[in-house]
Amino acid sequence: MSNEANEKEIVISAKNITRKFPAEGGKTLVANDNISLDFYKGETVALVGESGCGKSTFMRFLVAMDYPTEGEIYFQGKNLLKMKGEEIRHARKKFQMVFQDPTLAFNPMMKIKDIVCEPLLNFGMIKKSEVDQKATELLEMVELSADFINRYPHNMSGGQRQRIGIARALACEPDFVVLDEATSALDVSVQKSVLDLICKLQKERNLTIGFICHDIALVHLVAHRAAVMYLGNIVEVLHGHKIGTEAKHPYTRALLDSVFSLDMNFDEPINELKGEIPSPLDLPTGCPFQNRCSQCMDICKKEKPELVEVEFEHQVACHLFK
Ligand code: SF4
Repeated sequence: MSNEANEKEIVISAKNITRKFPAEGGKTLVANDNISLDFYKGETVALVGESGCGKSTFMRFLVAMDYPTEGEIYFQGKNLLKMKGEEIRHARKKFQMVFQDPTLAFNPMMKIKDIVCEPLLNFGMIKKSEVDQKATELLEMVELSADFINRYPHNMSGGQRQRIGIARALACEPDFVVLDEATSALDVSVQKSVLDLICKLQKERNLTIGFICHDIALVHLVAHRAAVMYLGNIVEVLHGHKIGTEAKHPYTRALLDSVFSLDMNFDEPINELKGEIPSPLDLPTGCPFQNRCSQCMDICKKEKPELVEVEFEHQVACHLFK
């Protein structure tokens, strides 16, 4: 993907987002800890990290599916978290989410044409009599035959169902789409074709995409920027195509070292991430990555590092780069 032609127009801006959950024994689980991140028009931002790091929790706030404990989210300059009633209902038209398994979001009793057109009918954007025509157009957009409009989700393959999920998400012509591990359950060849489709549609529509994934190898293929998360914190933000060569944070480097590749030397030991992930209910003082970091220093156990700019458009939260 390329965003050379796009001006840096902010579509969604998250400021100081924190999400806390009360837990047993009077403890608190902090799923997101003071996260700030902007999403520019026409760019894909990958949120990458291990399962449970809080990436999906964060993205759900951006599409108004949940609310943080603290912080602000600006969508087209207005605070999303203060919108109510019709204002939030209409704003929701402008951001959508595609899930890993779209069948869970589909009513199995509904035909494909009704699934993809449901948001348009809900918002009064088409009439019932226009469903067949619109569904045909939406299926063409995701490179599926019009023959599918009268089928049911269980009559389709995983890749075809994911294309239906994308068609439904784009039906209302949103400005911002979150893809939540949207290709991780697909076979590799199908994953590639769905990613190619997403890239093509993004360019055509100048879409802004939040791409949640745990596979760091996908990031340089699809993302203009990558935000790496660890235990509810963003620890590094950099250009997606630079992640393999210029990532600095020890956690990002460890993730990259864990990636399998065809030309890797299998005689050499795998540089695996050592140490247990601490319980999010019992985080240590200082850097959350300290017990797995081979470069941990005294200060890391006392002070939590802030996310700071270390190079142009490259931020790192690590005491090694202050
Ligand atoms: Fe490692 Fe310290 Fe950097 Fe944390 S702050 S990643 S413990 S060097």
